[in-house]
Amino acid sequence: MPDLLTIFLFIFSFLMLALWWRSEKARREIEQETVRLKGITKELESQSEQVQVAEQARQAALFDSMTEGVLLLDKDAKVLLVNQTLEKTFGVKDDIRGVSIMEAFRFHELKELVDRLLIDKKLEGAELELPGLEKRVLSANASVVLDNKGDSQGMILVFHELTRIKELENTRQEFVANVSHELRTPLSMIKGYVETLVDGANNDPDVAGKFLGTIQKHTDRLAFLIEDLLTISRLESGQVLLNPEVIDVGMMASKIADELNVKSAKRNVTIVSKIDDGILVRADRERLQQVMINLLDNAIKYGKEGGEVVIDAETQPGDRVRVGVHDDGPGIPPDDQERIFERFYRVDRARSREQGGTGLGLSIVKHIIQSHGGDVWVESKMGEGTSFYFELPV
Ligand code: ADP
Repeated sequence: MPDLLTIFLFIFSFLMLALWWRSEKARREIEQETVRLKGITKELESQSEQVQVAEQARQAALFDSMTEGVLLLDKDAKVLLVNQTLEKTFGVKDDIRGVSIMEAFRFHELKELVDRLLIDKKLEGAELELPGLEKRVLSANASVVLDNKGDSQGMILVFHELTRIKELENTRQEFVANVSHELRTPLSMIKGYVETLVDGANNDPDVAGKFLGTIQKHTDRLAFLIEDLLTISRLESGQVLLNPEVIDVGMMASKIADELNVKSAKRNVTIVSKIDDGILVRADRERLQQVMINLLDNAIKYGKEGGEVVIDAETQPGDRVRVGVHDDGPGIPPDDQERIFERFYRVDRARSREQGGTGLGLSIVKHIIQSHGGDVWVESKMGEGTSFYFELPV
């Protein structure tokens, strides 16, 4: 018979064993749980990293899609992010993240802008002229980014290209100045002659007749100028809807040559049309007529007195028709050839005025031809005459 102590020891050992077994089981479970939790934590970490990377990529794509240049700086004014537009603007090729402004862009004015931003906390419409041969102007809006305690977290700068707007502004100002100048000249002549007539010159019929003739000439000039200005303005505003139809170029050229007979006879110029029958283009009749009138009229005005003006046309590969207007006049100097299609550009200002020119004829021609999807150009050799060509789709 086992004694009491043995029984007690047996029960005690059994209890200890059971306790150990339970604690061991619990330990193992905790261990397993810890491993599982570690796994979950790792996965969450990697998921959060992925989310962060995706978010950064999304931000970068968003900034890169902007036409404005964007620059993010940290609180020490080091580059955090620069979008593609700004990289292109400043010609940045390397990775400049983490680099100071001066190192990154080597542009003093930009550094000064950032210094100003640090003091003022906000900048609106600050202008920056970029270094380089071509004049380029940027406008910058910038702000210091503050956290909820009001401490600086960095800066954001957004740049817009102002170059095109500035150019348009200059062109507009130039145009207004040119128009005013062009209007002033005939107006002051008319005013002068009218005043002289009022002051008594009308008592002499000969003088009065002469003065009235001059007034009429300048009034005509004003009328031509206003007519051309309206045409340019309509063409540029895109208000003119083209009404394309099939046109026989030869028939149109002969009709215009007849209409210009009085003018050509005055300078003893012969107009010869060398266009074969059946050369057709698709164009707006009224506009094409205006192109031919302007080119033939110029050839008569600036060609040789007593000379010959030839108009010809031929079909070109690619279903296009090339029309040429040739004169045997003095020609146009090479430097001027590049500019004569500009508004108000004249080679010989006095001669153009004397011939009643407005300086707008060729720019109207260019507008009309381009709006038809065609090209216009000039070829000229000094002393050998000038040829204007335009090409239109058949
Ligand atoms: P304008 O009203 O002065 O004739 P255009 O725009 O028609 O204006 O022409 C611009 C300038 O180009 C003219 O002033 C003239 O100096 C020059 N030009 C145009 N056509 C000819 C030509 N056939 N021969 C020589 N110069 C020409």
